Amino acid sequence: MSPKPLTLQFTELNNRKYMEEIIYPILGACQCGAVSYELLTPPLKVVACHCKECQKLSTSAFSITAMVDKNSVRFHGKMNEWRRVADNGNVVAAKFCPSCSNRIYHFNPNEEGPLKLKPSNLNNTEMLEPSVHIWVSEKQNWYTLPKNAVVYQKQP
Ligand SMILES: [Zn+2]
Ligand SMILES: [Zn+2]
Repeated sequence: MSPKPLTLQFTELNNRKYMEEIIYPILGACQCGAVSYELLTPPLKVVACHCKECQKLSTSAFSITAMVDKNSVRFHGKMNEWRRVADNGNVVAAKFCPSCSNRIYHFNPNEEGPLKLKPSNLNNTEMLEPSVHIWVSEKQNWYTLPKNAVVYQKQP
């Protein structure tokens, strides 16, 4: 049996989102659709980062990262890679779509650990309310942190 085309799966999942439970997998795709992915299980943690780099990346006040196990996500389509060295010396490797440049995920090539999914391009983003806010030392003054959030001035 051949797999269903992705477009059909998208329609099915859009209809499902009105149900109470969040149903996995959830599909995500870059802005042009050349790269897509399936998130198979809930994120381990959702973090908002207010650092200047994330403001540049998101063209907004902060970026959202969903920490996910490597085996919890299946990617489709070719991605390009870009790397920079963070303040703490860690290498931040970034995967992105070669045609629309939408960021897909970050990882540290020198460390085993969860992938840092840039998850705003998921079809369903209900589960993406960040529980942790980092680098609030660089936060925009007009953004008020939620009362129950765990907050770090810099990288925890
Ligand atoms: Zn794209
Ligand atoms: Zn950041």
